[in-house]
Amino acid sequence: MPNHHEKHYEIFTRYILISTLIMAFLNVAHSIINDYDIYPSTFLIPSLAGLLFGYQLAKNKILNLRMIQLASTDMLTGIYNRMQFDRFLKAEIEKADRYGGGFSIIYIDLDCFKKINDRYGHHIGDQTLTIFANVITNANRVSDIFARYGGEEFVVLTHAPDIKDAIKHAERLRKAIEAYDFPDIDQLTCSFGVAAFKPNEDEEKDLIKRADAALYEAKNAGRNRVCAR
Ligand code: GH3
Ligand code: MG
Ligand code: MG
Repeated sequence: MPNHHEKHYEIFTRYILISTLIMAFLNVAHSIINDYDIYPSTFLIPSLAGLLFGYQLAKNKILNLRMIQLASTDMLTGIYNRMQFDRFLKAEIEKADRYGGGFSIIYIDLDCFKKINDRYGHHIGDQTLTIFANVITNANRVSDIFARYGGEEFVVLTHAPDIKDAIKHAERLRKAIEAYDFPDIDQLTCSFGVAAFKPNEDEEKDLIKRADAALYEAKNAGRNRVCAR
């Protein structure tokens, strides 16, 4: 995957090159058609205009890409936001209903997070959320979809073939957080609610509702655990 700078560089070079060539070509064609003499300025002046034009186009294109990225990601953690997750979920449901292949969602809520804010301050709370998101991203597979669903609530969409595998996945995430040595705070644990998609039966809200109910169960049973519905 190219990083942002490489991608921007690529966009600038492509846009500038193409518009410079087009402008120079048009002016030369114009001169030939009208039987004008051709001088170096016949290429150079339109090339300069093309260069400026291409530069502006590239800037617009990059701004557009940035806006699309901002609209789909969470500012603090850099992972997907709820709106983007809902789009992915809708697409997964359509795919699973039509072509089969199961998936599950894992709802995650940080345990007693209010205490972390109260004890260490909002800044450490924010830092903890960001590191939490990194730990989960690293423990996930590349094909998993991970999003911030709300304040200290997160969700993973995993293509585990059945609920047993999804529970195993959640348990792996739970252990990764429990074992991680977060800076500045004592320890962090999370509770997990797992729900497997039922093809041709579940809508988005049913699946989320079941995962939420499972999460509620995990909280009531004492937190730092995985429950499934
Ligand atoms: P429980 O184990 O029952 O989930 O307890 P809790 O304290 O985690 O849950 P509660 O819903 O009472 O509190 C959630 C807290 O998360 C309160 C809110 O201030 C904090 N929070 C939500 N979003 C952010 C954020 O972006 N940054 C910080 N620092 N805190 C946040
Ligand atoms: Mg919560
Ligand atoms: Mg919480």
